[in-house]
Amino acid sequence: MSAIAEVAETLTRLRSEVAQLHAHLPAYGLVVWTAGNVSARVPGHELIVIKPSGVAYDELTPANMVVCDLDGRVVDGEHAPSSDTEAQAYVYREMPHVGGVVHTHSPYAVAWAARGESIPCVTTMCADEFGGPIPVGPFAIIGDDSIGRGIVETLRDSRSPAVLMQNHGVFTIGPTAKAAVKAAVMCEDVARTVHLARQLGEPIPIEQTYIDRLFDRYQNVYGQR
Ligand SMILES: [Zn+2]
Repeated sequence: MSAIAEVAETLTRLRSEVAQLHAHLPAYGLVVWTAGNVSARVPGHELIVIKPSGVAYDELTPANMVVCDLDGRVVDGEHAPSSDTEAQAYVYREMPHVGGVVHTHSPYAVAWAARGESIPCVTTMCADEFGGPIPVGPFAIIGDDSIGRGIVETLRDSRSPAVLMQNHGVFTIGPTAKAAVKAAVMCEDVARTVHLARQLGEPIPIEQTYIDRLFDRYQNVYGQR
């Protein structure tokens, strides 16, 4: 297959995958209106596939996904890309292992972000998926690369695939777009559970050695092999 045919085939697959993954965002209560998005890296190319800006989730199709370069410029697509494209492109530029990025304003997680408080690791599920607390990133507003920088600076030294950007929302990363969506779903669930636990007392921390064991088992052993 020629190189051009190969990238065309990959783009067709990723347009469809990214369009479909968006259905999880409203299904799990992570978004309202159009405020959340999924993107995927085009492996081997300096390109990403991302949601068009302001298009409703039930109107997303493979054809209206937008292909951008890693500076956030549109390469292929009839719509303007998500307003978060610049932040996400920055993450793909700086973190070569990242294959997918998700952004939501899911309510329980944003309640923690609004207080600038990281979510403590007090459930085994949090240890499994996040390997420790879910960290808070800096306050940053849209318009330059400060959101992207904040995400990368916070996640670079963390095992967590999720960051709560202060006063804003959740950004998750993963080796694939699907993994990043899963992290966004899990982040909201952990945020909700720990919020509920807090209502009647102080949750019990999990010892670091157990967090390490849980994280290692879940990341390396759990599931179908
Ligand atoms: Zn946002």
